[in-house]
Amino acid sequence: LFIVIEGPDGAGKSTIAKKIGEYFSAKGRQIEFTREPGGTNISEKIRDLILDKSNKEMDYKTEALLYAAARAQLVSQKIIPWLKSGKIVISERYVYSSLVYQGIGRNLGIEEIKKINDFGTSGLNPDMVLFFDIDPKKALERKLNIDGGDRIENENISFHKSVYEGYKKIANNYSNIITIDAQRSVDEIFEDVKSIINNL
Ligand code: C5P
Repeated sequence: LFIVIEGPDGAGKSTIAKKIGEYFSAKGRQIEFTREPGGTNISEKIRDLILDKSNKEMDYKTEALLYAAARAQLVSQKIIPWLKSGKIVISERYVYSSLVYQGIGRNLGIEEIKKINDFGTSGLNPDMVLFFDIDPKKALERKLNIDGGDRIENENISFHKSVYEGYKKIANNYSNIITIDAQRSVDEIFEDVKSIINNL
């Protein structure tokens, strides 16, 4: 089972990912967590390169290819072997982040980004995607208050708003994406998520 959590920066994805993991562990399942970009030695190095605030000159295509490269490594080195051994994989972000951040936010086009990622992931799709729907401005302010944010988080608010609109758009177009109202308390959100998981 491959579960992906998507949504704006500061939406609370990690908190719920952890709770989903605990829920499945209590049922005796083996869980693996991962985050994007990152999750392998090579992918974490690529992450540093992408998110380093001093890399201001990075071309948007370079950025898109680096995300796809980090993901390719993660899929082949970790996710596919984990799924083959029967584990539940929970990933914070996946291809959908690239569709909206690079495809829409950076204006490179959803179809172009989909192509490089289909190549990178060999077409591996998750069983379920939870899209955390939250006002991007509020979510981002929370994140910036915590740690000052990375290179992408420090983009202007109109970038983050277009990413958010992108998420809403793809949530309508992909049947495996389920929208979760993430403006509620952690407990309320998790109750929702639990019932969705149990219906799987
Ligand atoms: O979720 P996390 O904070 O770890 O994501 C790292 C950063 O990478 C965030 O600033 C996020 O907005 C950005 N990102 C991106 N394009 C992606 C995935 C993540 O710009 N495809």
